[in-house]
Amino acid sequence: MNNTKEEVDLNNQYIPESAMAIVAHPDDIEFSCAGTLARWASAGTRIYYILCTSGEVGIAESGMSKKKAAQIREEEQLEAAKVIGADEVVFLREPDGMLQPTMELRKKLVREIRRLRPEVVICGDPTIVWAGDSYINHPDHRAAATAAIDATFPAAGQPNLFEELEQEGFYAHKPRKVFVSGWSQTDHYINITDTIDKKIAALRAHKSQMKDWDPEPRIKEWAAERAKGKEMSFAEAFRVVTLVSDEDWGTTNGRVLGDSQLEE
Ligand SMILES: [Zn+2]
Repeated sequence: MNNTKEEVDLNNQYIPESAMAIVAHPDDIEFSCAGTLARWASAGTRIYYILCTSGEVGIAESGMSKKKAAQIREEEQLEAAKVIGADEVVFLREPDGMLQPTMELRKKLVREIRRLRPEVVICGDPTIVWAGDSYINHPDHRAAATAAIDATFPAAGQPNLFEELEQEGFYAHKPRKVFVSGWSQTDHYINITDTIDKKIAALRAHKSQMKDWDPEPRIKEWAAERAKGKEMSFAEAFRVVTLVSDEDWGTTNGRVLGDSQLEE
């Protein structure tokens, strides 16, 4: 290792080949990690969004049905993904407001991980309940984070778990790193100085959620706070877990049982 972890983090040299963000609702990616995804996308990273729900209970207006709201929010999410340069957006359409980290959801996520074979999985922190004195972390966020982590490790990389997915051509895959986005206990700061405007534009695509609220001042305030003391103006913060060493990733690329199972 030529660099200490700290130096690597602050230099932002790491650019994965592909990254998959797994979240509960439309707009969760934009609040948590869209600046990072935009940075990586512009460097050539393939970006995948997995939305567990379509946010259908998130529009409180008289006459608004869940069906209509889901349609609006999926369209907004697709628009936001376009701003960032995401390659694919998947809606799992689990029930908004009632998301549970079930075995069924774990399998759905394992299926997406084995199908798209991301180098990095980004998700939330399931341990966050209390967040300041004016917010309680949404139970769907905790459920999506739990399901994402449990699908990523060890499930996605275990050939004899959900082995029926092989019939669809989806084989065990072990992602290289997990980026857990969070507000505290973070050790990894991605410089989003060049992409914060895209993050804000992507947030603005969620018109049903932003309404008259201009996200720019708060987003810049939070991102500046995370960048404090580092050589960057704006940052997103993560805790990073490395599941596959750099040496091993070079030979496996996430494969668990060797090359024969995959036609590249
Ligand atoms: Zn949310």
